[in-house]
Amino acid sequence: MSGRILIIDTVATNRIVLKVKMLAAQFSVDACSSRIEAEAIISTNRPDLILINLSDPVEDRHDFCRVLKNDPETSNVAVIAVGVADTSKARFAALDVGADDVLPNPMNDTLLLARIRSLLRVRSASQELLLRDSTSRALGFEEANALFETAAHVALISQEDACDASLNQMLLNGLGQPVRALASNCVLKQTAVTPVPDLFVIDGAHSDCDRKALYRLVSDLRSRAETRLSTQLIVVPHNEPEMAAMFLDLGADDIVSSGTSEGELTLRAKALIRRKLLHDRLRDTVRNGLHAAVTDPLTGLYNRRYVQAHLTRLAEQSRGSGRELAVMMLDIDHFKQVNDTHGHAAGDQVLVQLADRLRENLRAIDLVARVGGEEFLVAMPRTSAAQAHLAADRLRRLVNERPFDLGNGGRKLKVTASVGVATSGRRDIEKSHLNKICDQADAALYAAKSAGRNQVAMSKSAA
Ligand code: GH3
Ligand code: MG
Ligand code: MG
Repeated sequence: MSGRILIIDTVATNRIVLKVKMLAAQFSVDACSSRIEAEAIISTNRPDLILINLSDPVEDRHDFCRVLKNDPETSNVAVIAVGVADTSKARFAALDVGADDVLPNPMNDTLLLARIRSLLRVRSASQELLLRDSTSRALGFEEANALFETAAHVALISQEDACDASLNQMLLNGLGQPVRALASNCVLKQTAVTPVPDLFVIDGAHSDCDRKALYRLVSDLRSRAETRLSTQLIVVPHNEPEMAAMFLDLGADDIVSSGTSEGELTLRAKALIRRKLLHDRLRDTVRNGLHAAVTDPLTGLYNRRYVQAHLTRLAEQSRGSGRELAVMMLDIDHFKQVNDTHGHAAGDQVLVQLADRLRENLRAIDLVARVGGEEFLVAMPRTSAAQAHLAADRLRRLVNERPFDLGNGGRKLKVTASVGVATSGRRDIEKSHLNKICDQADAALYAAKSAGRNQVAMSKSAA
């Protein structure tokens, strides 16, 4: 796994030892001794992860961590505090200022590397989400950056129903919300867990626990569709760095030693919950943003941008299967007059109702989109020219047989539309061919208009 690591330590030998280990693990490494140097490196050569010795000078280093975590530019850079006294007070202080993990001396190399890999994995997932989020924002789909106050779902998994009451109590006190107790064998047996927890705390610290089953559980939860986005905090026995490293490599998000203080356990649990909810929100924004990017706000139909992508997909699907694809262009007749006589708002009403009629009268596999002001495209897979002709005429009648409601005062207006139809014929549809079919449907529409409007015209190639 590649990544850029910055080592900050006043003691030259510490820096050298860590640097050698990191280079051996194929990371790019910068190392420095002071905060000023670190700031210069961060501004020119942003690291993915910082290994910082918090012991000297403690106050300044703590302040530095706080600043990093509060700056939106660097809040996403992972921080591991090293050289911290192995006391719950020192660990808590480091986590509290924003360190993602604390590794006291002497450091276990396997655990250090597993921790780095795990944090870099999370960082790249966060970066991808933030990038997609910014793309949808750039497209103009700003979402209120509301802080989420959603209550999270937390589950405590223990083996053989041997739920550790003190662990449960600590989580309950610290998080101030109920924690669901689950037995690991039930979870392994694929019993659906609903609602899906945002955080699984897994108790792997019992002296008689079956480690292999727990490893299986962790990787199973990480790979299952329903739980793969949940976070996992594993409680491991004290002084079992290899076991901790194994859990991290299998997909656990964080590790805590048994006997850890309630404060540290809660801090770690809260950090995971916060990250999970943030990722959920980013995923939602992306989804909503993408939806907004491909739909027309007036009618809710897909727009031209979506049509292009969708037609390409239909062409791919048809490749080799010889399925026919029909494309229709439907355009409202003399729509300018509707606006001129009844006003733009009345014109909008007609567009919205016409979109509804089209949507309600097509199959689920058909695509209907608004591709111009009063112009709609309908794509029908697996449809022959004869079937397409019938369908087009049905849509035409759907427009002219029932007047449109203009809103205020119950005014009704008769509207007609013309339709041009083209089909692919029985052959594979190449990408270039798609444009041709759309052009042919356009030409047929023009012919329907010329022939007097309120009618269907078939493209010569489809007739
Ligand atoms: P034809 O029968 O030849 O299609 O004539 P037409 O009047 O429908 O066509 P033309 O292209 O001359 O005019 C289209 C009109 O559609 C002009 C424009 O004001 C109107 N229009 C385009 N988008 C909207 C919209 O979002 N809302 C409303 N109310 N009108 C729109
Ligand atoms: Mg028109
Ligand atoms: Mg038009």
